[in-house]
Amino acid sequence: MLITDLTMDEFAAGLATTRTVVIPCGSTEEHGPHLPLDTDTIQACEVARRLAARRPLFVAPPVHYGVCRSTSGHPGTLSISTATLRALVLDIAGALYDQGLRNIVLLTGHAGVTHCATLTDAGEELLRRYPDVRVAVLTEYLLAAQAGRSIIETPDDAHAGEIETSRIQHSHPHLVRGSAPADYPNFPKGILVRDKRRFWPSGVWGDPGKATAEKGARLEVAVVDALEALLIDLERGVE
Ligand SMILES: [Zn+2]
Repeated sequence: MLITDLTMDEFAAGLATTRTVVIPCGSTEEHGPHLPLDTDTIQACEVARRLAARRPLFVAPPVHYGVCRSTSGHPGTLSISTATLRALVLDIAGALYDQGLRNIVLLTGHAGVTHCATLTDAGEELLRRYPDVRVAVLTEYLLAAQAGRSIIETPDDAHAGEIETSRIQHSHPHLVRGSAPADYPNFPKGILVRDKRRFWPSGVWGDPGKATAEKGARLEVAVVDALEALLIDLERGVE
């Protein structure tokens, strides 16, 4: 059930079938010269939508903005602060809780370390605020990298590379502009660089040349399978 498409009566009726909601969290962020800025949001929404076709599940409207550090200077990246993301997620999850949802899944398509840590921090705060809530915080890119180990050829594929290019080729082929050269940027260890673009002009981390739509289809199924197993545990009360 996509919340955006439901009427008030359908939402109320849906609560009789499930108390679980996925909040897709994405970003508006450069993904190389060949993928759209919406790539992370698309991926989180696609797997949430496919999961909702398998089992009773609410899917909240996506959060289109994330915390993007290393791409913040690239054209098109619209990064928000950790404080804003935390407050936004807490407000959205709180509203869903007030509407009767009790199993809350923060599913992020953007895998930035600071971004994911902020979602985990918000999830912990939800546990503190609501004694009867269950929370999962999942980075769907990591699920794709783990579950898709046998599908993917590129070691250290991380951003706009084989995985993400394959998945957008599969789900949104009309938004893919060809391909891009492989790149593996080398940021200084431990030092926060001011001009990130200087160390990573391409905006690609991995090898888009290895991508195929067929791999993307298989990766998507692998992610949905992993998510489904996790949801079953969450709803059973594993915590
Ligand atoms: Zn991405």
